[in-house]
Amino acid sequence: MKKLQILLHICTLCITVLAPKFAGGGEADRQIAVTIDDLPADAAFSMTATTITEINTNLLKGLRDEKIPAVGFVNEKKVYHWGEVDQRIKALAMWVDSGFELGNHGFSHLSLNNAGLKAWEDDVIHGENVIGLLLGEHNMKPRYFRHPYLATGRDLQTRREAEAFLTGRNYRIAPVTVDPWDWMFGPVYADAKKRGDAALQQEVLNSYLLHADAVLAYDEQLSRETLGYEPKQILLLHDNQLNADHLKELAAVIRKRGYKFIALADALSDPAYSMPDTFVGEEGSGWLDHWAITLGKPPKGYPAFPAAIMERYNKLPNPLDY
Ligand SMILES: [Zn+2]
Repeated sequence: MKKLQILLHICTLCITVLAPKFAGGGEADRQIAVTIDDLPADAAFSMTATTITEINTNLLKGLRDEKIPAVGFVNEKKVYHWGEVDQRIKALAMWVDSGFELGNHGFSHLSLNNAGLKAWEDDVIHGENVIGLLLGEHNMKPRYFRHPYLATGRDLQTRREAEAFLTGRNYRIAPVTVDPWDWMFGPVYADAKKRGDAALQQEVLNSYLLHADAVLAYDEQLSRETLGYEPKQILLLHDNQLNADHLKELAAVIRKRGYKFIALADALSDPAYSMPDTFVGEEGSGWLDHWAITLGKPPKGYPAFPAAIMERYNKLPNPLDY
């Protein structure tokens, strides 16, 4: 028992020493970039172009109102829907026309770990036609790539070859350090909304915000334990109804922890993103895990996903349709 008390005391000391500097008003000086995956919408295959337009209009309004710079990562396959191609491309054009950037997330969201290198490379090339045109209108080119499923390769050779391929096409990989699993809350929320169940919508939102806060706290501590400081973090969100309706509430949770929203380019200037990283695995993972595992300190204690939401998610006949 005594040993435990001493350990706890030492841990408290560590946390105190490593805690970030506090700026005026008692707020920590933290920074975070926002990235949004699976454009033009998480469940675009089962949605009408009108719903897709509505979701992106609201999401962009939320980002603008909250003054959050963001990069949206596109799966261009979702644009090719008979009779709706123009409208779906317009939903993507809204991003660049209102000052946001688009990145490549693979044409059909192929996992490097499942598809193999050659098929995955083809998917990357196939996934830059529309975004290339849209960015070109603003004298820009696609410059960021986000790995689908965060799958960066099952072995180091594949991982390095994939990275060299991306560098050769002038892409910078967009890592992730904070992942609140919004993709699992999203379908439960969208289903509740479709059925007009306002109480459940509110319950899902509350649970999402609490979980996001817990994940941020966990990642801040893991950062200090792994790197000795909190880097400029990179948040992963998805283009869905939940974020479109409630970005403001999520931004408030993040700001309350002392974060300022910054551009992805700014976040990537943090030296953390040049840390040695030899992570390989069957499953994709965030970069804080990559660094911790590379240093031989596998992370523990990731906040448990709320069981009530997971149960509802598992009961949906086809969760990817929401
Ligand atoms: Zn994705």
